[in-house]
This record gives sequence, structure tokens and C-alpha cells, in this order.
Amino acid sequence: MSMTPRPSFLVLLGPPGAGKGTQAGRLAASMGVPAISTGDIFRENVKGESELGLAAKRYMDAGEYVPDDVTNAMVADRLGQADARAGFILDGYPRTAAQVDRLDEILAEGDAALEIVLEITADPEEIVGRLTLRAAEQGRSDDSEDVMRRRLEVYREQTAPLVDLYSRRGLLVSVDGMGGVDEVGARIGVALSKTPPSR
Ligand code: AMP
Repeated sequence: MSMTPRPSFLVLLGPPGAGKGTQAGRLAASMGVPAISTGDIFRENVKGESELGLAAKRYMDAGEYVPDDVTNAMVADRLGQADARAGFILDGYPRTAAQVDRLDEILAEGDAALEIVLEITADPEEIVGRLTLRAAEQGRSDDSEDVMRRRLEVYREQTAPLVDLYSRRGLLVSVDGMGGVDEVGARIGVALSKTPPSR
């Protein structure tokens, strides 16, 4: 058992390609809470050709955000499941101000609150390099260079402002995402251990 209590309601923020998914998986394993990636859920639905997948696909392929009402409904449903009661790591949500508000409501309904918003920073040119590599490895249809640039632009316009918003709430912890997976993971470990649990 770990002697240091860790926050269990955590959001990962950062541009596409910053390594959020990888770090979310590692943190989830060490904290014993699920990592919930809205991008993964959308991709599974696209693959399964569900109604949600059909609604999301054209936005994803264009590098745009899926509309807030669709995304929020999906997240409310997922966070309502039993395994998310004691905590979760959200990877890729919230991404807009309306999603921030909806997440606050969902948490309040469960008598919970966000404990940490972990920002993983990354240099845009390095990201394009990483995403190009990932496109080749995973064959993702939203990793072509045009779409990739659009995704970074949408991040800057709609999601980057959330960094300030959460910083003003005193929830933000930023970690440099450049470097190897273990190196970044170690930085995250240090940053989180310095952060006293708020509750
Ligand atoms: P990701 O794997 O997190 O980069 O997500 C892949 C794609 O899924 C994004 O480019 C969006 O089209 C969609 N998506 C994932 N999360 C969200 C969200 N919170 N809000 C809107 N669209 C999202």
C-alpha cells in the first residue's frame, strides 16, 4: 500500500501528441482508478458503427471537436458507471468551457470535486513529428498532416484557455512532456507527490 494518498479525481490536459494517453495509463495502474479517454471511446464507437460513432466520425476525421452535447452525454454515462465512483483519470476531457461546466455538475452530483488538473506541455513541432510517427504505426485516419495541424489549432483555440481557468482555481500542475515515457512519468510522480491532496 502506498503511504502517500494521491488525488483520485484527475484531469489530464495537453495538446494532441503530448503523451497524455500513455501517461494516463501508467497513472491509472498506479492509482487503481480507470483512465477514461474520450478519444478512445469515440474510436471504439466508430469501429463498432454505433449511432454515437456515426455522429462523431466526420468531426474526428476533420480534426474538429465532436459537439459538446454529444460528448457531455457520453461522459456523463461513462462516469456514472461503478468503477468511476472512487476516482478516475480523464484523458482528453474536458476540452471546452462548456465541458468544464458539465464536468463540475457531474462531479457535484456524485458529491465529488476535481483534485488535480495535470497539464502535459509539448512543443508543437515535436508534436507534429510524434503524430506523424503514430499515424504510420497505428493507421489513424485523423493523423494526416493537414488534420494534425487543424487538431493543434483547435486545441489552441478551445482547450488552451482551460489551462488558465484551472490555474485560477488552484488545481493546475504543469509538467514538461518532452523526453522519454519513463522520464516524463518520473516528472509527473514528483509533481503529484508535492501536491497536497485538497480533500
Ligand atoms: P484524442 O484521441 O483525445 O485526440 O481524440 C480524438 C478525437 O476525438 C478528437 O480530435 C475529437 O474529434 C474527438 N474528441 C475526443 N475528446 C473530445 C472532447 N472532449 N470533445 C470533443 N471532441 C473530442
